[in-house]
Amino acid sequence: MKSLYNENDAKQFIRKYSSIPEELALRVYTSRLIGGDSNLVLHGGGNTSVKLRMKNIFSDLQDVICVKGSGRDLSSIEPEGFTSLNLELIQRLRKLETMTDEEMENQLLINKQDAKAPDPSVEALLHAFLPHKYIDHAHADSILVLTAQNKAHDLLKGVLGPKIAVLPYVMSGFPLAKDVAALYEANPDVEAVIIMNHGIFTFGENAKTSYELMIDYVHKAESYIRSKMPAEISSKKTENISAAAEKMNIDASRIAQIVRGVCAYRNSEGRLRRFYTEIRQPSDIVSLSLSETAPEICRSGAITPDHVIHAKNHALYLESLPDGEEKLRQTIAEAVDLYKKEYNEYFQNHVQKRHTAATMDPCPRICLVKGIGLIALGFTRESARIAADIAEHTFRVKIQAGAVGGYIPIPESHIFDMEYWNIQQKKLHVTRTPKLEGQIALVTGAGGAIGFGIADRLLAKGAVVVISDIDTSGLKKVNSILSERYGKSRVESIVFDVTKFESVENAFAEIGKRTGGVDIVVPNAGIAHVARIEDLEADRFNQVMAVNLMGTFNVIKASIPVFKRQGTGGNIVFISSKNVFDPGAAFGAYSASKAAAHQISKIAALELAEIGIRVNMVNPDAVFENQNISSKLWDLIGPDRMKSRGLAPEGLKEYYRQRNLLKISVLAEHVGNAVVFFAADETPTTGATIPVDGGVPAAFPR
Ligand SMILES: [Zn+2]
Repeated sequence: MKSLYNENDAKQFIRKYSSIPEELALRVYTSRLIGGDSNLVLHGGGNTSVKLRMKNIFSDLQDVICVKGSGRDLSSIEPEGFTSLNLELIQRLRKLETMTDEEMENQLLINKQDAKAPDPSVEALLHAFLPHKYIDHAHADSILVLTAQNKAHDLLKGVLGPKIAVLPYVMSGFPLAKDVAALYEANPDVEAVIIMNHGIFTFGENAKTSYELMIDYVHKAESYIRSKMPAEISSKKTENISAAAEKMNIDASRIAQIVRGVCAYRNSEGRLRRFYTEIRQPSDIVSLSLSETAPEICRSGAITPDHVIHAKNHALYLESLPDGEEKLRQTIAEAVDLYKKEYNEYFQNHVQKRHTAATMDPCPRICLVKGIGLIALGFTRESARIAADIAEHTFRVKIQAGAVGGYIPIPESHIFDMEYWNIQQKKLHVTRTPKLEGQIALVTGAGGAIGFGIADRLLAKGAVVVISDIDTSGLKKVNSILSERYGKSRVESIVFDVTKFESVENAFAEIGKRTGGVDIVVPNAGIAHVARIEDLEADRFNQVMAVNLMGTFNVIKASIPVFKRQGTGGNIVFISSKNVFDPGAAFGAYSASKAAAHQISKIAALELAEIGIRVNMVNPDAVFENQNISSKLWDLIGPDRMKSRGLAPEGLKEYYRQRNLLKISVLAEHVGNAVVFFAADETPTTGATIPVDGGVPAAFPR
């Protein structure tokens, strides 16, 4: 590891943040340098501070400490991500004998200088009690490798030199802050404090010194570890591993679907909580999954307790998975059950000494799958990704620790204290979750107006949505609008041909690989052709049938094995047409194909009820466009209709509005709302048709 400190960059930060004190601008700069290296900190881990003088409202100069807000990510932190606290009052707290966590939290909050600033880091007191201007703290992988060793104290001194102080593991909070300050005062010439199984603190009178000390010490640790690692695995072996991984891509997807399904559970409110999965297959992790040490490494516990809220203490190892869907599901279900049983025992063993809220769910967050890699789980895609990042670093630290001498984790009681620490749990932002959070939806034909509207409404209710189309230009446009609106991690885009079963099957495998599976399937792709029967060419008729009927059939058929693997039910909502009940002349191919697809959807409702899949239909009419994404159907038939009725585009819309009972313009979002109604399991309904047409008596379902 090398210092990335650059005088020009530092000056740029000072210029960019000219309205704040220079010391804080430099604090932002070096904080980002630390946050930018995942070998130092991961996702909101680590923290930094600076002590400075600021004017208060009376223009009196006052000593404050600006410390990172709890859970803020150092890699992208802005000045607002720091909270300034009254330094004098905070430092006085050190005189107290004891202080509860609740009181510590209270003191940190009442001494904030800006009510709107974020809650300060739980390690704020530690920063305040040390005298230095700048303090940097990271959970550096290489330091954790060394602290997890037998006789770690001597090893650390040997590798890092005499100017460090080492403290046994103590949970973050008031006692740790006091211990670190006392340790420093007893050894005032130390440059760094290392807390076993937690991380490293460095300090200095300017931003550069404190940051570069951190890099220096981490570099020393890394060099030592490198000298102990066996030679790189031979390239031939690497090739074998990646070939094996490539071959297993489909399997990774299948396994993710099963893992996701067996981990889903009903919470105390009776709601089904589903997970998203994140698959990672770097060659060293695949190689680890094949090694003899894999079971032990999965069971050996977190590298720092800070990770536990995201990734739990143990990973689940899945080995010797059988072929055959039934057996595979059963084997994984049994392994997950055992994991949950052990987690519940762990909870019961430790719950007595802490007043804690109800237990968190006992499901694993990390699975290491033999020959495949790791599968991480999270209630959001972001949390699955965080867990996956933590898992990759954890596995590598343990491999390195093994090469240095052996990996010794911290006792489970410390893990529990951290996992169930109220202050820590706040980082999980447990708020009311949106209706469809945890669900994955596939919307075909999403490059057009209606598909766009459906995807938008599903996203608004919390689902992750995979939009698909064969037309890449429309799809790209919709993808960019939706990603902008709901975040890139919520929208996936995939191009495939609904008329080819193999293409559809591969698409479901790809969706499983990216997200974990599917819960809501919306066959919406459709085309139209205007011709009276006597002029309707068989080829054109077949083309419309291929997309509208076979496309719907293929999508429903290919979704069934995924639904079965998950075993958690789901919804298919076919976007049909008002024409099914009320057809129009010269529209035979469209009406016939939609009617047939409507019927196949009803058959699916009959057949799939036994696995908890509800199949319903939505019949829209006269949806023209959605936020400048036009309806392809109306692009095609609009001009003809305008001509036959002698109307301009606006006139045609008005004509259709006046034609329905409610005198309403039907919008794509109305169709989306109907899909959301079914997808949210609001009523025990299957095989039903909802018209979304403003009321067209001739098209009433019957
Ligand atoms: Zn820490």
